Amino acid sequence: MSRQTRASRSESEAAARQAVVAAARAVASKGLSPGRTGNVSRRWRDGMLITPSGLAFGGIDQSDIVFVDVDGTPSGATRRPSSEWRFHLAAYAARPDRGAIVHTHSLHATVLACARQPIPAFHYMVAAAGGADIPCIPYATFGTPQLSALVVAGLADRDACLMANHGQIALGADLATALELSETIEVLAEQYYKVLTLGVPHILEPAEMTSVIEKFKTYGQKAQG
Ligand code: 13P
Ligand code: ZN
Repeated sequence: MSRQTRASRSESEAAARQAVVAAARAVASKGLSPGRTGNVSRRWRDGMLITPSGLAFGGIDQSDIVFVDVDGTPSGATRRPSSEWRFHLAAYAARPDRGAIVHTHSLHATVLACARQPIPAFHYMVAAAGGADIPCIPYATFGTPQLSALVVAGLADRDACLMANHGQIALGADLATALELSETIEVLAEQYYKVLTLGVPHILEPAEMTSVIEKFKTYGQKAQG
């Protein structure tokens, strides 16, 4: 059994709920999603733990976090789950390699998403989402199965995407990784927005992005080879 598997088996539900609260509070304190927008989840047992619908993240505690099982049924909860529980559950089903999701309406990502502009390879760091660009999925009403299907397609080979007229989603192996990627997407969106004000950006060649994506596999303290 891997060290990670042993750790997650011994983790208490209270600690798992607290981790979702901490990530949601970080979304609020970092100004990553205005008002009551955005939602956060992580896998738990055969389902997920997800933020409650319509509550400001600054005021929630672990009793507000909702367990939703693999069929989409909430259990033992005092709160209704995020209205976006469908796309969270669908993304986990489609990406067994990922364990946490952060969805926000962060300012610049949302500006680009409202203009329905994906983020091309204007900077090599777009590879942080796993490919040569950060796509923008088409619009569908929040909370619907239609939006869920679009999210699954958008995240099939990326860890993040913009959502037309809505915001952005980031996946991670864990909450810290998903949160960091959502911040990275917002920074890239702001940089791209500003570059656009200077004229036509220089877009990196596909071959250059292929080599960046390859280098990212062993970048920093990741295991070599
Ligand atoms: P919830 O409060 O229901 O999670 O909705 C916020 C949101 O961002 C919907 O897309
Ligand atoms: Zn939203």
